[in-house]
Amino acid sequence: MSPTDRKVAVVAIGGNSLIKDSKHQTVEDQYQAAKETTYHIADMIESGWEVAIGHGNGPQVGFILRRSEIAARYEGMHELPLDVCGADSQGAIGYALQQNLQNWLFQHKINKNVATIITQVLVDRDDPAFQNPSKPIGGFMAEIEAKRRQEEMGWSVVEDAGRGWRRVVASPLPKEVVELDTVKALLAAGVVVITVGGGGIPVVDPGDGNYRGIAAVIDKDYASSLLAQSVNADLFLISTAVEKVALNYGKPDQQWLDRLTLSEAKRYLAEGKHFAKGSMAPKIQAIIWYLEAGGKHAIITNPENIGRALRGETGTHVLPG
Ligand code: ADP
Ligand code: MG
Repeated sequence: MSPTDRKVAVVAIGGNSLIKDSKHQTVEDQYQAAKETTYHIADMIESGWEVAIGHGNGPQVGFILRRSEIAARYEGMHELPLDVCGADSQGAIGYALQQNLQNWLFQHKINKNVATIITQVLVDRDDPAFQNPSKPIGGFMAEIEAKRRQEEMGWSVVEDAGRGWRRVVASPLPKEVVELDTVKALLAAGVVVITVGGGGIPVVDPGDGNYRGIAAVIDKDYASSLLAQSVNADLFLISTAVEKVALNYGKPDQQWLDRLTLSEAKRYLAEGKHFAKGSMAPKIQAIIWYLEAGGKHAIITNPENIGRALRGETGTHVLPG
């Protein structure tokens, strides 16, 4: 295939690609779950797609933070800042995906390399999200500890309906994938790239070009959309826990969608009642931004249906227009 024939897909994989349910959360369980999803992505690669993979990291960062908190409490170990937890999770999740993909490609005699990029994503210090941090992270605390951390460490803390106090951080919009040139160069060289893990490590530029990590989280669907826009992806595929998107999801008049246009997607999202706020709505928004920026084709489906969705047999397809 000549370089111009190459078709690039950004595949954003959801939480179910690493944790199937609350009884299967160990590292080995996550490795096995990753294996299943990577096999479906490997099929895509075998059929000629150049693929960049984005993934979530919510539960994994939760585990890392919890270990850090426990070690600090009982052994006086230093705690891990949130940006470092993000970097650690990108490394560990990337490792599981990378090794599974490499093994599959090797066994199928496909001469392709796989690389995980520790990826920073630039956010705007003036993003309004910083005025209203709302993403809870880490464990519950007693009020006295929450207030101490607020005072000494500048944390934002909130009381969570009788269960105790929790830290909350902002979820700003992604502005720029810092390692974009590297991602593009690897894709052009035929390397499968794992990037923007967990939405990327949020960094700010204080104005002097010295990027610094900050305590925030970026939505992984938004970051994957930015990536798809930035590499001019021919396809933006969001792999999640449902085969298709529905209107009136979970209601008696629920209606599964095979196909919708950009303008229909915008209309349904604006109606507010179809797509749940913290789950499907950001995916639809991510797709809207991708198509508005000139994207050609977006699909939402689950890992086991990726192949069928690519053949047009299932999934929800969103197209310009
Ligand atoms: P991920 O980890 O892939 O981001 P999420 O749980 O955030 O997964 O989002 C996927 C979930 O969104 C589905 O499992 C489903 O329960 C939920 N959902 C909300 N609204 C809809 C809708 N309109 N159609 C389909 N699924 C929806
Ligand atoms: Mg989600």
